[in-house]
Amino acid sequence: MNSKNHTVDHDLNVGVDLEMVVYFRKALIDWYLSYGRKLPWRETKDPYKIWISEVILQQTQVIQGLEYYNRFIERYPTVRALAESSEEDLLLMWQGLGYYSRAHNLHQAAQYIVAHYDAEFPRSRADVSKLKGIGPYTLAAVMSIAYNEPLAVVDGNVYRVLSRLLDLDVPIDTTLGQKTFRDLAQTFLEARQPALYNQGIMDLGAMVCTPKLPKCGVCPVVKICKCAYSSHALSRPIKSKRVVVREEFLDFFMLIQNGYFWIQKRGNDSIWKGLYQLPLVHSLDGRKSDIERSDSLEFSTEEGNVSHVYQTEHRLTHRLLNIKVHTIHVTKATDLSEKGFIKIPISHHSAYAFPKPLREFLDKYFS
Ligand code: SF4
Repeated sequence: MNSKNHTVDHDLNVGVDLEMVVYFRKALIDWYLSYGRKLPWRETKDPYKIWISEVILQQTQVIQGLEYYNRFIERYPTVRALAESSEEDLLLMWQGLGYYSRAHNLHQAAQYIVAHYDAEFPRSRADVSKLKGIGPYTLAAVMSIAYNEPLAVVDGNVYRVLSRLLDLDVPIDTTLGQKTFRDLAQTFLEARQPALYNQGIMDLGAMVCTPKLPKCGVCPVVKICKCAYSSHALSRPIKSKRVVVREEFLDFFMLIQNGYFWIQKRGNDSIWKGLYQLPLVHSLDGRKSDIERSDSLEFSTEEGNVSHVYQTEHRLTHRLLNIKVHTIHVTKATDLSEKGFIKIPISHHSAYAFPKPLREFLDKYFS
């Protein structure tokens, strides 16, 4: 082993000795081979499929991601099939997964691969890193799993496992913290078996060293872990800042008119880019007086009778959306087409991709 492999920023006093590193690698890979999750993207070396699985799993639990992955690969089995799909079709497929920029990025990257690499997923680190939406985590995952390149993944699971293993109190949301963990992750990586090692540490973090209830009793690295069986583990990793969550109020109006209702495609600058929504009044504090009429929609409930109000909450990383959907059976002649809305038959609502809270509402309301 290269002595450089176990040198981490000494200013931080991160003590990692060679014996510990060797023990960790072996214990982790042995455990992974016996207990790792059997998942379809682990039975292939196709970089396209590995890329898709990693992007889906970035913000999604494996159980939910699995269902989406299977449907996605069935519909778009190749880079070319994805590149040639329409945005409408892709968003319908992605509906409910959230973080829609991932779908837009996949689409653009697939089109780039077709244009520049004749639809063959690129092989070199430099070329893969140029693809839209590929950050350091996805790059390391795809390069190590598909091509066995020695690049360590660093994500929430890795922060958690390594910070507990070494009882590290370096905040992970600082530049110094991120560099420290990147270096540590690369130090611990088993460079001869990066695919097994990276998948092992992902599974260890997801299945054993979990955020709220670490299962030290079945952990393969319990003997060398500095937080084993200690409540201290729950305070690792640490962050320097608290996430500030802003509350917002979204009042949607489902205007039903002779078996039809009005919808609108969201713009490019929004969280749900390219998805459809109902007419919306968006406010930052919930008071009608401060309402920002996002679409300069002049709409009054006097147009008809509100027959139903559906209420739900939707959490995003920095926002809490308080959502109400007011259902109104419109009695006056109403035409919103000049304001960019379209009228669709109720029976066709499933053919349009809506943000998750609206999709749940529509499915319940029209079931
Ligand atoms: Fe996490 Fe416990 Fe394993 Fe340490 S021993 S890595 S705290 S599960």
